[in-house]
Amino acid sequence: GEWTGELVQRHRNGDTIEVEGRWTLVRGEDGSPQSILAINTDISQRKANEREIQRLAFYDALTGLPNRMLLMDRMHQALATAQRRQQGGALLFIDLDNFKQLNDTLGHDQGDLLLQQVAQRLNTCVRAVDTVARLGGDEFVVMLEELSPKPHELAMYARSVGEKILTMLAVPYALAGYQYRSTPSIGIAPFTGEFTGELASVGELLKQADLAMYQAKTAGRNTLRFFDPDMQAVVTARAALEADLRSALAQDEFLLHFQPQMRHTGQCVGVEALVRWAHPQRGMVSPAQFIPLAEETGLILPLGRWVLHNACQQLASWQKDPALAHLTMAVNVSSRQFRHASFVDDVARVLAITGAPSGQLKLELTESVLVEDMETTIATMEALRSYGVGFSLDDFGTGYSSLSYLKRMPLDQLKIDQSFVRDLLTDPNDAAIVDTIIGLSRSLGLEVIAEGVESTEQRELLARAGCQLYQGYLFSRPLSVDLLDAFLRTPAA
Ligand code: C2E
Ligand code: CA
Ligand code: CA
Repeated sequence: GEWTGELVQRHRNGDTIEVEGRWTLVRGEDGSPQSILAINTDISQRKANEREIQRLAFYDALTGLPNRMLLMDRMHQALATAQRRQQGGALLFIDLDNFKQLNDTLGHDQGDLLLQQVAQRLNTCVRAVDTVARLGGDEFVVMLEELSPKPHELAMYARSVGEKILTMLAVPYALAGYQYRSTPSIGIAPFTGEFTGELASVGELLKQADLAMYQAKTAGRNTLRFFDPDMQAVVTARAALEADLRSALAQDEFLLHFQPQMRHTGQCVGVEALVRWAHPQRGMVSPAQFIPLAEETGLILPLGRWVLHNACQQLASWQKDPALAHLTMAVNVSSRQFRHASFVDDVARVLAITGAPSGQLKLELTESVLVEDMETTIATMEALRSYGVGFSLDDFGTGYSSLSYLKRMPLDQLKIDQSFVRDLLTDPNDAAIVDTIIGLSRSLGLEVIAEGVESTEQRELLARAGCQLYQGYLFSRPLSVDLLDAFLRTPAA
């Protein structure tokens, strides 16, 4: 019997050494095992050389990044993993604009320096699970993994990384004693587990990203393009909307509509302010389309301030008319806006500037605000409440707030989400939920209002269940200032 193999042994001085062992069993004359003849050869140096060869084979010598071979290997694995776990990913093909010019004018040494700095910057743009590789020349590839397989989310995430790379690589480089500017063109090829498991697919994916990169070059460089035209369309439309949204505030394209809130006796008790965007080309854009984008981009902060200011101006103007002076004004507040450090001061300032009666201002929050950071939320609400401002919990029943949260919040009102009201007559579950919410509000000592009330049947069912405040098309759609004025001056039937 003979055994050969490689072992890691500990040297007397504590170092580990790699050895190749060749062990032979020595038998006595009767054939029974007597001893083992072991010949161990130190192969540490040979192993180090092998590792070096490995490094040279799989890593780029100039930047230390994985090379094309290792990238292809990881792409195989990534596609298999994406398939197994139902995940998405994306390949970003990055090519520096005008790199040849730099090489020709400043020399290859400076070109090498630039490539090294680009490699370092790319590494700061990705997470640990992602791969940054250099294909050769001025071509780099970033592979993103473990993403959502939903096309829209996948596209948005890949775009955000692509834009980060555009920003990072555009920062001037210190080369040959001066500030050198360089930009990249980026092609993006997203993939999901559905990307066929054929052997050809890895090469195919790389080709897609490469093609998209050429489209970015054609489009004028320093930009990114998606291989998938549908994804490109999503991203382009969204980028256009974002740019429009930025200028809309300056151009004064927003306005407020107001939807009356009614008591069961037929009087109007107040209104909810709903923002509208009168876009010069698109027409009226629904807040459902631009509020999420405004939240993502941070534009919700100036927009929210604008809404608050204009709603409070309206509220203040009613004070001059005894017939309208009792009306309340409900204003929607996004989580990001509510969480902003200056929110309490902003509200206080707007109240002071407009002279609106703070006791008639009601801020509508959603359950997400309550859940995110309860202590801070309570502190912010208490601070606002000390000015007299009230709170309504919007879309109630769709979120996750527990009873213990509700008890601690200084709330005034629960607003039954319109999805429950919609199916009140047909879905016994919804009827039961509405009953529960009304019972809950009573036991917590809160007011309750139902939104999305469209029919008299719904109103009657709600009234029987004990809900006495309503908002919905049955009474009025959201109205412009002028139409609201007419509505308020029409005596209740
Ligand atoms: P929301 O706060 O739940 O507002 C109620 C939405 O339901 C409004 O849509 C309103 O027009 C609509 N609605 C009212 N009555 C009925 C009805 O009887 N039937 C039906 N089917 N719908 C009814 P809108 O104006 O498109 O607003 C959509 C969402 O946009 C709002 O939902 C709110 O979350 C957000 N939003 C609107 N204005 C602002 C704002 O100034 N700031 C913030 N942060 N969000 C706003
Ligand atoms: Ca609302
Ligand atoms: Ca609502």
